[in-house]
Amino acid sequence: MIAVLRVALPVPLPTLFDYLPPAAGEARAGARVRVPFGRGEMVGVVVDPAAEAAVGTGRLKRVSEVLDPYPLLDDELMATLAWAADYWAGAPGEAFANALPLALREPRPLPATGREAWALTVQGRSARDAKSRKGGSAALLDALYDGPRAADDLALALPAWRAAARRLLDAGLVEKLELEETFPPASSTPGPVLSDEQATAVAAIGEGFGSFQPYLLDGVTGSGKTEVYLALIERALAEGKQTLLLVPEIGLAPQTVRRLRERLGVAVEVLHSNLAEGERARAWLRARDGTARVVIGTRSAVFTPLPHAGLIVVDEEHDPSYKQQEGFRYHARDLVLVRARALGVPVVLGSATPSLETLGNVQAGRYRRLVLRARPGASQPTRVQIVDMRAQRLDHGLSPTLVHAVAACVERGEQALVFRNRRGYAPVLLCHDCGWHADCPRCERPMTLHAGRRRLVCHHCDNTTAVPPACPACGSANLSPQGQGTERLEEALTERFPDIPVVRIDRETTRRRDAFGDMLDGLREDKPAILVGTQMLAKGHDLPNLTLVAIVGVDEGLHSVDFRAGERLAQLVVQVAGRAGRASKPGSVLLQTHHPDHAMLHALLRGGYPAVAESLLEERRLLDLPPYAHQVLLRADALGRTEVDAFLAEAHVAIGDPGDLRIAGPMPAPMPLRAGRHRGQLLVEAASRARLHAFLRPWRQALAGLPAARKVRWSLDVDPIDL
Ligand code: ADP
Ligand code: ZN
Ligand code: ZN
Repeated sequence: MIAVLRVALPVPLPTLFDYLPPAAGEARAGARVRVPFGRGEMVGVVVDPAAEAAVGTGRLKRVSEVLDPYPLLDDELMATLAWAADYWAGAPGEAFANALPLALREPRPLPATGREAWALTVQGRSARDAKSRKGGSAALLDALYDGPRAADDLALALPAWRAAARRLLDAGLVEKLELEETFPPASSTPGPVLSDEQATAVAAIGEGFGSFQPYLLDGVTGSGKTEVYLALIERALAEGKQTLLLVPEIGLAPQTVRRLRERLGVAVEVLHSNLAEGERARAWLRARDGTARVVIGTRSAVFTPLPHAGLIVVDEEHDPSYKQQEGFRYHARDLVLVRARALGVPVVLGSATPSLETLGNVQAGRYRRLVLRARPGASQPTRVQIVDMRAQRLDHGLSPTLVHAVAACVERGEQALVFRNRRGYAPVLLCHDCGWHADCPRCERPMTLHAGRRRLVCHHCDNTTAVPPACPACGSANLSPQGQGTERLEEALTERFPDIPVVRIDRETTRRRDAFGDMLDGLREDKPAILVGTQMLAKGHDLPNLTLVAIVGVDEGLHSVDFRAGERLAQLVVQVAGRAGRASKPGSVLLQTHHPDHAMLHALLRGGYPAVAESLLEERRLLDLPPYAHQVLLRADALGRTEVDAFLAEAHVAIGDPGDLRIAGPMPAPMPLRAGRHRGQLLVEAASRARLHAFLRPWRQALAGLPAARKVRWSLDVDPIDL
């Protein structure tokens, strides 16, 4: 029996690939290799360096080159990735590709990490294997066995390493890697004295250092969760341990990073999708070699190597951006739990509006809940009031009550936020004479009017057309915008308040990289202003002079068919409301609605998010919905409806006897047509995860072999967050 190398390649196939060992060099598990694939070459990761060949080895090709003499991905990450690929029904190669920054997926040498680092030479490796050295030298050879390490990392692990390094360098057993300029460490500034609640939380989590335990840090906006994270990170730093801090897409403002750097006084590595690829790879490698002590990043940073892990924090754990919605559909918050267990470290999930999944885990006793009720900065609690729009005369969708409240606010010299979660001028352009409205032909949904750009834009597929001068159906010039987007509200408020700056913040106005931060910086001053914006404003910035939040148009969310809509809406309302009254000035919140008697709004008013969450969770339990049931959603799309239907019918048959599984569909997707493609789905539910996965593994294999599968695009979504 001949041993082969089993390699993960970045292709969407549910398999690993076997190769003959390279002509030169040894490839270890977790190292990258260059291999022939099809007519070209690919970079893959060795999963098993000594697997038994599954087919005759005569047809196997040989690894072209070993790119890393040591594992780039350590055992923990390798195991986690294999688990994740199985759990989220992803192709193993795609899971590995998600874990490696793009620059490391190319057959090039690793970029320099910008700090002093040390590595074994070939002779050093033999010396280590022969155990020819003793004491500090032997310890250093051991420490470098798994790959180069940064000098400051070695300093923490081996106090006398430098003397040993000098001896071994003279003997040619180790080498010093290329140096680059390091940036000087900032000096750390002390934070505020922690409140009793904060101190209790820090102490409780601190006790758990060194072992796996999930905590929910349940604290209203402005209650000082970030201060708790900072205190815990300081503690991890003092122990020489690494912290990974995940934040949602919109939470990663330069201000946040600055706050962390100033407070901690150490290099804080930032990993997010806007980073230049080289930078991203360097930050990843600095985490890999142990230099990076604090890593902050968005979803994909969950794959950061943490050889000295001490703590993992997920801020705003309820945020949907933690779920990847294409390709490998993993959930970073859930993956964090798996990693923390393997690494033996505590996890802190922080939120003012915890997800029902997390609350379910608290209920089941799996997570410990720590509560922050007080807002250290705020003197008085925020008042929330519902504005009944039904009998009121509206001006561009704004009720007189709302306009008066904004006027009073700016007259006091304070700032008001008018929140509307729709960009553009108006969601519909309607012909008053014949009832025609502008639909996207590729989605069969209304196109949004963008007045500034003089365009109609489909928010589902980005299809863009000119605004017609007259109705294409009847020729009438009587075309009128229906409903309000942020652009229209900005116009209406500018007209009504000509002397007050009106600042619109949405994807349109913040296209430029730092625009968002710059706009908010301008609002930090103690001057009156009106902000109009989408959910981009729901999180991330302290605006001390903001005292009024007016929420316009929540009604769409009250009537959605998605069972998660209530949870989402409650979270959004509470997060936006949390923007008001962060400093010493009291805040108030107005919620404008046509449904003042809606049960959810009432619960929100009376008991806040905890009350809403409790009743929603109870509803989920009664209806056997997640987190009390486990789902996998099969999606398919194609240019023709027939192909979609045929595939889903075959997929349905392939389930065989469903037993205790619950099946919904095949059925059209909530948007049956999108960007010109017909879409359908099939939902399978099980009472337990184990049951779901026992079903899923063979089904997934069967789906790939279905004749109709070749005529559609299909994907599986485990624990889908939108149906
Ligand atoms: P969260 O992350 O929960 O929204 P932050 O940690 O950002 O809250 O704190 C909100 C504000 O209150 C910040 O300006 C912060 O500096 C301040 N703050 C937090 N904890 C304290 C404290 N113990 N004493 C004084 N101010 C505090
Ligand atoms: Zn018409
Ligand atoms: Zn469209």
